[in-house]
Amino acid sequence: MIPALMPNYARADLAFERGEGARLWASDGRRFLDFGAGIATSSLGHGHPHLVKAIAEQAARVMHVSNLYRVPQAEELARRHVANCFADSVFFCNSGAEANEGMVKAVRKYHAENGHPERFRMICFEGAFHGRTLAMIAATGNAKYLAGFGPPVEGFDHVPFGNMNAVRDAITPQTAGIMIEPIQGEGGVRPAELQFLRDLRAACDEFGLLLALDEVQTGMGRSGKLWAHQWAGIEPDVMSSAKGIGGGFPLGAVFAKEHVAKHLKPGTHGTTYGGNPLACAAGNAVLDVILAPGFLDGVDRVARHLWRGLEGLARRHPDVIEGVRGAGLLLGIRLRDAVTNSALQDAAAAEGLLTVAAGMNVLRLAPPLIITDAEADEAVSLLDRACLRVSPDSAKAAAQ
Ligand SMILES: *Cc1c(COP(=O)(O)O)cnc(C)c1O
Repeated sequence: MIPALMPNYARADLAFERGEGARLWASDGRRFLDFGAGIATSSLGHGHPHLVKAIAEQAARVMHVSNLYRVPQAEELARRHVANCFADSVFFCNSGAEANEGMVKAVRKYHAENGHPERFRMICFEGAFHGRTLAMIAATGNAKYLAGFGPPVEGFDHVPFGNMNAVRDAITPQTAGIMIEPIQGEGGVRPAELQFLRDLRAACDEFGLLLALDEVQTGMGRSGKLWAHQWAGIEPDVMSSAKGIGGGFPLGAVFAKEHVAKHLKPGTHGTTYGGNPLACAAGNAVLDVILAPGFLDGVDRVARHLWRGLEGLARRHPDVIEGVRGAGLLLGIRLRDAVTNSALQDAAAAEGLLTVAAGMNVLRLAPPLIITDAEADEAVSLLDRACLRVSPDSAKAAAQ
């Protein structure tokens, strides 16, 4: 018989009762170091006192009123984000896929309002992940996610990640914009070259296209800067965010420059829950922590410490690990063909470390941004033991 909870996930047989910082306790009593953070989402870790207090206080006052009314918490959160990034205006929603939908709608609207409704196509990249709605599985372009769901939504063209010639070849009079993750997350923790991002910006300027960044996974401090595109010194026209922006509370956002945002007039786009007082109280509390002086420098520093630890790990286990990649606290361990990422993920969990698999046989580490050097070291030593468990070198495996 089918479970009451729809069986659309292959879940690990683990349920958590309580969390504190980067630790989670399972109902069977086991304790874990959480280097998955609910897929790069619990950015302040579990039970962060400032976030917990903000949510509890706002929940007791008023949670939801709808966008029929002003929402001061949303006005405040938008104002603070605008003061700290390229955007002139922000729309709040509830998830990453919904933010990406809003972003693509904004790009299409911009061209339609400028007299070019025929310009509606987005150039996207092989290996991308943009979410699970009908349009976003088309933007993602992965045949596995599209199968069985009818004709793909029109208007998404795919080219190889990092290939500027292919991008230029794909631009037609119907192209509206270019949509890219600065670091492909689900696709295998693959960072775009910073020069590639700059070249995309230049191509957008040359052809009148909008640059649309999906920073759902890479944003809100995960890369060591507030937004990953800041490493390239460029500004997009529009950007999506979700995951870490609410620190584990559902919140998404579309950030836009004025020339894009001004076309989203009343009636063009909307949401019932989006930007509600409770979600925005959470968003403001997350921002309080991330914008505190020195916090992002601390993320960058601990990330470099973890990177060095992982490079040591790779040197000790050349039979398991091909290399380390990523940026900030979005790191990927690329494995040898003889070892699967799910095998290493299971071995790490058996040692007490939670991680997340990604494409291209990569094991992803996306810990809370509040981890300490000691927790980074602990994760590396748990991975050391996990590598022994999965080592194809049988002598090594037997010795453990
Ligand atoms: C997770 C993710 C999404 C989808 O977010 P949901 O909240 O699951 O809808 C979109 N884009 C990127 C880059 C993501 O990592």
